[in-house]
Amino acid sequence: MSTASVEALVDGLQAIVGPAHVSTTPPDRVAYARDLWPRSQLDRLAGEPPRLPTAIAWPADTAQVAEVVALCRATRTPIVPFGAGSGVCGGTLPVRRGLVLDLKRLRRVRRLAAEDGVIEVEAGHNGERLERWLAHRGLTLGHFPSSILCSTVGGWVAARSAGQCSSRYGKIEDMVVDLEVVTGDGQVRRTPRVDAGGFDWNGVFVGSEGTLGVITSATLKVHPEPRARAFRGWQVPDIQAGLTVMRRAMQAGLRPAVLRLYDPLDTLMVGSDGDKKAGGGPLHTLKQGLLGQGSGGGALRWILSHPRLGNGAVNLLPAPCLLVTVSEGEPGEARATDDALAAFAREVGAKDLGEGPGRAWLAHRYDVSYKQSGIYRKGAFVDTFEVATTWDKVAALYAAVREAAGRHVLVMAHFSHAYPGGCSIYFTFAGAAPDASAMRDRYDAAWQAGLDTALGAGAAIAHHHGVGLSRRSHMGPAHGDARRWFDALKATLDPDGIMNPGKVFGEAP
Ligand SMILES: Cc1cc2nc3c(=O)[nH]c(=O)nc-3n(C[C@H](O)[C@H](O)[C@H](O)COP(=O)(O)OP(=O)(O)OC[C@H]3O[C@@H](n4cnc5c(N)ncnc54)[C@H](O)[C@@H]3O)c2cc1C
Repeated sequence: MSTASVEALVDGLQAIVGPAHVSTTPPDRVAYARDLWPRSQLDRLAGEPPRLPTAIAWPADTAQVAEVVALCRATRTPIVPFGAGSGVCGGTLPVRRGLVLDLKRLRRVRRLAAEDGVIEVEAGHNGERLERWLAHRGLTLGHFPSSILCSTVGGWVAARSAGQCSSRYGKIEDMVVDLEVVTGDGQVRRTPRVDAGGFDWNGVFVGSEGTLGVITSATLKVHPEPRARAFRGWQVPDIQAGLTVMRRAMQAGLRPAVLRLYDPLDTLMVGSDGDKKAGGGPLHTLKQGLLGQGSGGGALRWILSHPRLGNGAVNLLPAPCLLVTVSEGEPGEARATDDALAAFAREVGAKDLGEGPGRAWLAHRYDVSYKQSGIYRKGAFVDTFEVATTWDKVAALYAAVREAAGRHVLVMAHFSHAYPGGCSIYFTFAGAAPDASAMRDRYDAAWQAGLDTALGAGAAIAHHHGVGLSRRSHMGPAHGDARRWFDALKATLDPDGIMNPGKVFGEAP
């Protein structure tokens, strides 16, 4: 953009949102040139400068968002909607520069209809604050992503998020009743209620990652807060036995809040009692390193630079795995669910570890996610890769991704977000290489292998982290002809292509 065009854009933005709510300062532009995608962190380490947005604006309400979108449409300025920037797929990176539209000032609760079990809340509302607000009223949304402290309602809807208790409350798409969206043509639109009959139009925007419009508010389902919880840990003989317990429980109609099965390496990381106590030897070094603890990094780098050896050693670990369960609801329901789970667990020969692992999980539920910078400081990288598939394919998909990605990185996984039809696998990839550029190559190779394998197995290439830039290469094959439907929607709702260009499907073919 020429200097004159930038000045005209900034003048226009200031007239809409007020001068205090527009910035073109270098610190703000640098801060808004990122989200938590590890690949862009590796770019920085390799010395590649980020692409900065032209400006950042903080609108106060839907009317201002609509005016900003109209201005950007008139000036052909790309818009990147921004919730809290906790996305891990590059969804908020301003690849075509333009305007980053931070929605955090849209944070009002517009309506609570507790009797109907719905709340309408604006898109920029922080997740944890919303849960606290509801808890004061004896309610819960039941949506607890690990990033709840640093993510927004709009980001959840846009990136198709899942909370830790999705087996009981569903993913965000199961919670949406209707949405208010400012589409790329500048119109303020409200989707028909999910129960309006016929199509569910919310589905057009859930997972659209800002490519069709800016979500400004969402009406979501709420539930009474659970009055009781039952915690349990099980040592299951192996992964297959744990998956059998999860499948049978969900298919029997149980709705535990948490069913979380760790593979042998992840079991070691968590500790068989779920409290992350460290053991000894190379695995101790690995564990400390991956938890961002310990000093130095030579040993960790060595282990992670030899992934075949590392993954081979993991194959020698004892097969028994940790399965954590949390059941909640009314006291009778929580107890009954826990008892029924126990019956399924005993049938596969699981050993009861008592309440400890479940309670430890709850106490540490948001901890591990904030340990990554320690790993990067040690000259290594880590990322997570979540996919989902039907029960008949879960074990094979797990083995295939471990095999394919394990040539490049150390791989561990847990199985969570269980549903009657299947579950998600949440892989953690960790790697190292002699320099930043080689690290990036290794990272790319692991992702490519993981995505190719998931696609080849007919699995969903994402479960809850969204697509952004990291998965867009595989969206075409994953969605086939539906890509053309997206283009049609785009032509109708964002005719000038200003909404978050380059994301999800990338550019038109
Ligand atoms: C430590 C950690 C743990 C995580 N754990 C989980 C987890 O358990 N479950 C889970 O689902 N995710 C998890 N994530 C990923 C991330 O938190 C989610 O994707 C979350 O939904 C993003 O919310 P946000 O408000 O930060 O969105 P952002 O990162 O700001 O944006 C994400 C995408 O949505 C678009 N967007 C944001 N707001 C709007 C809007 N109002 N209208 C239109 N488009 C919009 C953006 O343009 C971008 O494409 C985790 C991330 C981290 C860093």
